[in-house]
Amino acid sequence: MLRVIDHPLADHILTLLRDRNTKPVTFRTLAYQLTMMLAVDATRDLTTEPKAIETPLEPCTGHLLGREPIAVVAILRAGVAMVQPFMDLFPDVSVGYVGLERDHVTAVARAYYCKLPPLAGRRIYIVDPMLATGGSAVQAIDAVKRSGGVAPRLVCIVAAPEGVAEVSRRHPDVPMHVGVVDRALNERKYILPGLGDFGDRLYGT
Ligand code: URA
Repeated sequence: MLRVIDHPLADHILTLLRDRNTKPVTFRTLAYQLTMMLAVDATRDLTTEPKAIETPLEPCTGHLLGREPIAVVAILRAGVAMVQPFMDLFPDVSVGYVGLERDHVTAVARAYYCKLPPLAGRRIYIVDPMLATGGSAVQAIDAVKRSGGVAPRLVCIVAAPEGVAEVSRRHPDVPMHVGVVDRALNERKYILPGLGDFGDRLYGT
């Protein structure tokens, strides 16, 4: 259920994202680019329908995306950075938000906001750049399933082995699409080598 992007461009973008000298303006662009790659990879099983068209040279049969509606659910606040690439690729996407805040001492996530579109019958992508302990992801998946979402997929930029294991244990039906799986968590539950606090890097806080 774990799919890791294997592409030199992803390695390049990740290296720049990890670099502590990368400024927020560049960080945001890199996060956009890598999420675009993840979104393309995570939607490779979308269905298509044949469409007869004419090129300037001759008729041919192409393929257009089927009618399967898509929803993206971003975990606040860092997940917001991953919404735009999905909206740019899939203009009809519905977007929801789950606000989960990590206590900096206990590292346990607390829900403070939940606004979801109708989820029944939609293909759902939950986006959160950093899959650390897996606590936030599990809570977001719980919220999505409570609202009628079926088999949501999780899309993350960096994952820790601990987070991957926790999501697999609590939600074995949820596929994970990640940019990279890093070494481990530190004692403060930050991913190593990681890239630091994604929200802080993104917003310059
Ligand atoms: N969230 C982050 O932003 N970074 C980590 O390393 C872990 C969780």
